[in-house]
Amino acid sequence: MYRFIDYKFIAMKEIVTISTIEHLTHDVLRIIAQKPAELSYNPGQAADVSINKVGWEEELRPFTFTSLPTDDHIEFNIKTYPSHKGVTNELLSLHTGDALILHGVFGDIAYKGEGVFIAGGAGVTPFVAIFKQLEVDNKIGGNKLIFANKTKADIIREDEFKKLLGNNFINVLSDENIEGYEHGYISAEIIKKQIDEHTTYYYLCGPPPMMDAAEKHLHSLGIKDDVIIKEAF
Ligand SMILES: Cc1cc2nc3c(=O)[nH]c(=O)nc-3n(C[C@H](O)[C@H](O)[C@H](O)COP(=O)(O)OP(=O)(O)OC[C@H]3O[C@@H](n4cnc5c(N)ncnc54)[C@H](O)[C@@H]3O)c2cc1C
Repeated sequence: MYRFIDYKFIAMKEIVTISTIEHLTHDVLRIIAQKPAELSYNPGQAADVSINKVGWEEELRPFTFTSLPTDDHIEFNIKTYPSHKGVTNELLSLHTGDALILHGVFGDIAYKGEGVFIAGGAGVTPFVAIFKQLEVDNKIGGNKLIFANKTKADIIREDEFKKLLGNNFINVLSDENIEGYEHGYISAEIIKKQIDEHTTYYYLCGPPPMMDAAEKHLHSLGIKDDVIIKEAF
């Protein structure tokens, strides 16, 4: 394992055996694997990952740890795209005992203080780890999560977030109109309703179009870039 300059990027090549691979939603896999002894990361960080299978070893894709650095295993929650015929499709054919290769740890999202977390789809994964850490530290406080998905069936770890955040967990569904869930896309109005005296930071993660729209909404509410912490998926 090689450490470069500072904590921002740690390069390595570690083969890790999968202990559990299962569906978390209809198209999201939860993969639990062995944790390399020297691995270190912060909640919110990702790793470049490939599959330890002939022809796939050099196909690196970034995935975020949904486990905590103190766990004795690593976990990823991965949305699969069969139509891309890429790495996430190939993951669908893996079983317990198959292996992944971890190539490096990186990522810009880290918890700085209370605020509103805004996620789209699999963009929630850095927040899974951050919220797990906040729960362990007893610091959930007034943090809020606004989570955008197409349908209820797409919501990753809904029960867990509901239990942890209660009314501070706001779901926005674009393709379904269900009581208790916002309908449409994340808007300035939806965000504004969640801003209170505890809101110092805004955490954004999701696909680029959703990120662009959310950032515009934040700017329209007078939120400055220095309190926006983001990563595009
Ligand atoms: C820092 C970071 C962390 C991330 N963490 C996670 C995470 O924890 N969980 C998660 O689910 N995702 C995460 N992602 C997103 C994840 O990396 C991508 O979804 C993943 O790389 C897709 O890999 P793939 O090989 O299946 O498809 P791709 O690499 O997107 O596509 C493979 C090939 O398919 C073709 N293709 C591309 N788009 C399409 C399309 N729309 N239709 C048809 N063909 C297409 C292209 O030829 C492409 O080369 C993260 C991304 C970043 C940047």
